[in-house]
Amino acid sequence: MTAPAFPTTPSYAQALAAAQTLGLERLDAQLLLLHALGRPDSDRGWLLAHDDDMLPGEAAARFRALSLRRAADEPLAYIVGSKEFFGLQLQVDARVLVPRPDTETLVDWALQALSGPGMPACAQVLDLGTGSGAIALALKKNRPTLDLTAVDVSAGALAVASANASRLGLAIHFIEGNWLENVSSHFHLIASNPPYVIDGDSHLSALSHEPLSALTGGPDGLDELRTIINQTPAHLHAQGWLLLEHGYDQAVAVRELLARRGFAEVQSQADLAGISRCSGGRWPGESSPQQTAG
Ligand code: GLN
Repeated sequence: MTAPAFPTTPSYAQALAAAQTLGLERLDAQLLLLHALGRPDSDRGWLLAHDDDMLPGEAAARFRALSLRRAADEPLAYIVGSKEFFGLQLQVDARVLVPRPDTETLVDWALQALSGPGMPACAQVLDLGTGSGAIALALKKNRPTLDLTAVDVSAGALAVASANASRLGLAIHFIEGNWLENVSSHFHLIASNPPYVIDGDSHLSALSHEPLSALTGGPDGLDELRTIINQTPAHLHAQGWLLLEHGYDQAVAVRELLARRGFAEVQSQADLAGISRCSGGRWPGESSPQQTAG
């Protein structure tokens, strides 16, 4: 074993210092120590006040094992089994992408669009590629009257998402399928955080624990976005919105794809860092179940 030795019964402060020598951020080390102690994240203040307490041998071994996983780049969310998103505590594991704060921009935008004129309180909303269920659950939680459907091609992801929905007591209709292949209804709003990273992109190595199929979108990263933009008009009510998350440098390309497909009011929204992170538009025409996307 090449990792530096962990003291077998360290004080909390010594255990945290040992984790940091493995390369862990102090915050991650604190959260993992709380997890090893079976205490909530909110107990960080308590932890600081107990710097000199001794960590029992069993908890020290647990903490060391958790720290080694984090040192091997496993996302903290997988190790502790949950991630906060839009005020909801979601359970996550390696079957789904870890929900990112970036995606909260998409949820904010969707909530705004759903409050616009002409939108019924019980609007039909679709989350395409739901993963952990993050977008669908955040929308349903904030607007309980919405009629939410969530699609994913991965049965494993749907198992995670539906477990989150039942635990949170939120009613979502789940469909297994590749984008819209098994969807027959029409929607007032379709939101998606599809895979959009370029195949072979250098930053994928830092994401090696997450499902590649939820991350990569072909040679220019736009393959899945193109498919969604082509297929969704057949499933949008007139004046229905399509809102998409994409890469930090894909806004111009995505707006162009939307405009070329016939979407109106094509626009982008910036995330908290000021990066155009989501683009979308409104389907102007009437749509019918018979219409097929060209
Ligand atoms: N935002 C993620 C990342 O680049 C990618 C998510 C996605 O492909 N939908 O880390």
